[in-house]
Amino acid sequence: MLQSKLFTKTSRNAPKDEEALNAQLLSRAGFVQKLMAGVYSFLPLGLRVIRKIEAIVREEMVGIGGEELSLPVLHPRKNWLETGRWETYDTLFRFTSHYSKNEYVLGPTHEEVIAPLAKQFIFSYQDLPRYAFQIQTKLRDEKRAKSGLLRGREFLMKDLYSFHKDEADLDAYYEKAKGAYARVFERVGIGKDTVLTFASGGTFSKYSHEFQTLIPAGEDTVYLCEACCVAVNKEIIAEQPACPSCNAKNLKERVGAEVGNIFKLKTKYSTPFGLQYKDEKGAMHDVLMGCYGIGISRLMGVIVERFHDERGIIWPESVAPFRVHLIELNGASAAGLYVALQKEGVDILYDETARSAGEKLTDADLLGIPWRAVVSPKTKGKIELKARNSDEVRLVDEKELLSLLKPTT
Ligand code: ATP
Ligand code: MG
Repeated sequence: MLQSKLFTKTSRNAPKDEEALNAQLLSRAGFVQKLMAGVYSFLPLGLRVIRKIEAIVREEMVGIGGEELSLPVLHPRKNWLETGRWETYDTLFRFTSHYSKNEYVLGPTHEEVIAPLAKQFIFSYQDLPRYAFQIQTKLRDEKRAKSGLLRGREFLMKDLYSFHKDEADLDAYYEKAKGAYARVFERVGIGKDTVLTFASGGTFSKYSHEFQTLIPAGEDTVYLCEACCVAVNKEIIAEQPACPSCNAKNLKERVGAEVGNIFKLKTKYSTPFGLQYKDEKGAMHDVLMGCYGIGISRLMGVIVERFHDERGIIWPESVAPFRVHLIELNGASAAGLYVALQKEGVDILYDETARSAGEKLTDADLLGIPWRAVVSPKTKGKIELKARNSDEVRLVDEKELLSLLKPTT
């Protein structure tokens, strides 16, 4: 991609109404733009990051048997009355049609849609288990939306729902999902900072589990067992004051951002919709369900909160918008190198703009692309290669550069 053709430009100053660091950096670099509080446009650079995160999440969900589908954002009131959440869901966006006077919900989550849907296809024990997921825009009437991408009124979520015939099967799948979640967070670069956290389980289960990334910008308080890397959410610390793994009492208070949440719903949503199956002997039972969420757009914000410095973003390679930022300075041309790198399948942003070296390098630091390759009269036919997360500069020739940056897969 030629930088001169980018739809967006960087800006020196953050928008005045952005408090959160993730939103400040992402707006300045041209990844997102706020339309109003809690609602962002994902611009071409930002969408590249979102697509990379989605691809990792999708791969891991397919890896545990998930089948992808896409459910409507617009729901009829009826489904939400069935479960009682028309009245009790505190961030529900509801509205009335001007024509029919019908009432609608803008989907904040999809149990009310998937449970009656599954009823069309699940009849007997032979139809179980089943796993379906989607990656989709959710809408919630959040009271406060001041944390940039961490808390949107419109945001991207991956939600997977599982359907089982008994608790043993649900439990086994739940553990599998835990593993897949750990792999997602590892792959996007926040594995070491993200801890499994015990949280309230609701009516049917003792606990649910959250994946909390320990960053100062988080909105949750958790109590961490440093030995086990397991935490307890503040909301249940009174009933669970010790580490659930080793029983240690010296938990440390930390701040976290919830990037994922897994929950054994059991029959909470199958009962109201009559989602049942027939067992081997012909007896009917309620289907057991689990739900598994990951905040895709929140994850993007969390990654920026975790990986940045005073100059800008530092993307982990797995989710970076481009792998290499190729920059020509002071009249030198990197056009040939651009073609050669592209031929090798390297994902490159090529800054061929005629701006000052200072401006171009400042931009590069702000955008945060993992590798910076600079060509200038000073480098005399060689290339200055620098990783965004290091100060070390290497002088390499074209052949070395190609072999260093060539994708391995
Ligand atoms: P929170 O406790 O942060 O309000 P939640 O428990 O209501 O989140 P879930 O319904 O479990 O969230 O949603 C699944 C995932 O979606 C969360 O783990 C989080 O990563 C993400 N998420 C939830 N609400 C938002 C939001 N308003 N903006 C961005 N991401 C969100
Ligand atoms: Mg939660």
